[in-house]
Amino acid sequence: NAPFSSDALGALRNDLGAGARKLFIANEFVDAVSGETFDVVDPATGEIFASAASGGAADIDEAVKAARAAFPGWAATPPAARADILLKLADLIVANGERIALTESLDNGMPFMMAKFGGVMGAAGVLKYNAGWATKIAGETLTPSSPGEWHAFTLREPVGVVGSIVPWNFPFIMAVAKIAPALAAGCTVVLKPAEQTPLSAVILGELLQEAGLPEGVVNIVTGFGETAGAALAAHPDVDKVAFTGSTSVGKAIVHASTGNLKRLSLELGGKSPTVIFEDADLDKAIPAAAMGIFGNAGQVCAAGSRLFVHEKIADQVIDGIVERAKSLQVGAGLAPGTEMGPLVSQEQLERVMGYIESGAGEGAEITVGGERIDGSGYFVQPTVLTGTASGMKVVDEEIFGPVLCAMRFGDEEIDAIAAQANATDYGLSSAIWTRDISNALKLAKRLKAGSVRINGGSGVDPAMPLGGYKQSGWGRENGSAGILAYTELKAVTVAL
Ligand code: NAD
Repeated sequence: NAPFSSDALGALRNDLGAGARKLFIANEFVDAVSGETFDVVDPATGEIFASAASGGAADIDEAVKAARAAFPGWAATPPAARADILLKLADLIVANGERIALTESLDNGMPFMMAKFGGVMGAAGVLKYNAGWATKIAGETLTPSSPGEWHAFTLREPVGVVGSIVPWNFPFIMAVAKIAPALAAGCTVVLKPAEQTPLSAVILGELLQEAGLPEGVVNIVTGFGETAGAALAAHPDVDKVAFTGSTSVGKAIVHASTGNLKRLSLELGGKSPTVIFEDADLDKAIPAAAMGIFGNAGQVCAAGSRLFVHEKIADQVIDGIVERAKSLQVGAGLAPGTEMGPLVSQEQLERVMGYIESGAGEGAEITVGGERIDGSGYFVQPTVLTGTASGMKVVDEEIFGPVLCAMRFGDEEIDAIAAQANATDYGLSSAIWTRDISNALKLAKRLKAGSVRINGGSGVDPAMPLGGYKQSGWGRENGSAGILAYTELKAVTVAL
């Protein structure tokens, strides 16, 4: 039995077939200035099932003007009123959850239940968390070191107009995770969804309208990275860019933003290690390591793509992951029972297959998977590569697909294990499995990663900072650091 109603799916398909999704600028749905649209492809079939307005520099300019005009009013709106709108939006998202999850599943390919719980319910949670912050952003009272009597304090002010650029792997919650702290802090936003998955952001626009968000506070411009995205990153009247995506585009955004020295938050790629010690609870560690790389077909920034396992249990762990790979139900996101969907696009399929071939060419053994699944759609088998080592492309570079590189370690010191786990340009996430709390904490302190999950993780949690060391990014999203990243800090001193 499908966990959604076929009527809802039918209505959605009719609606999507009726015309291209529009841009959302100054509270109105409009066509792109150029009149151009682009096709949206269902990755489970390779078929075009919708289209969206192809925004370009002129549309970004209109959206930035609307956001700039709205900024003083929104910044001056009482924080409690801003919180109310975020809470209302959270309720509307839950009320429209089926339509959003169906859209997300068709557009990205992810299993419907993941779209519903990870996407829709997760987005509502992010809004509620940030609504709480709106009324709690505060400065400090300080004592200057200079002689004399002073009253000195700091103010936290909203940064201004924010350009938010998001990827395709979790389109809806990524968009919400960008607008929620921005709005709570009093910023206005121009959001640019990924061209592979523009549809759920358009629903967000509808719900923002329904929630009563004032005109121009959030504007949504669907379009391509090289056109709409680049125009937003370079726009002289945008004060901050909050970007989630690949490290290479993150670097392009750094260059594009220099004109007016925008504030930047960058959530970039990863090649995260999972370390399993000899004493780990394998009943938990094995399924977690498997879904840590096969979940959302490995298209997860924090995917545990490099496994380091103690040699005494390595066969047992790798066999367990291989069995899970074989039993995993791969199919369309909307097919009943699907545990892993397709990759998002033909391009991503070719990229992942290219990596698997390169791994085999460099001497890795394909222990399970390794093939494209025949038929339509962009499906790749869940894959485990063994005999891999640092220096191989599959180990050093982010694949962003369901491909695990498994490696073994012996009785080396914690420092040596940490050195292997840290042998990457990235530093986003990590996982440790052991019953020895000292080893767990010693390794946690040595890992160069923004997150360390010991004996299980809570997924992405709006209360927990998320972000990367090294080339995984700048700054943190979520938690108090996430909201403060949308503020400027001002020091005020009064000589008494
Ligand atoms: P991508 O970098 O290709 O695209 C991301 C976004 O940037 C899209 O909206 C795209 O249109 C836009 N873009 C592309 N070129 C641009 C340019 N020149 N100027 C401005 N914008 C431009 O990334 P992707 O392939 O969509 O997503 C996968 C990547 O995202 C992976 O590397 C993954 O690790 C990363 N990611 C990171 C996190 C995190 O929190 N650190 C979360 C999810 C995904």
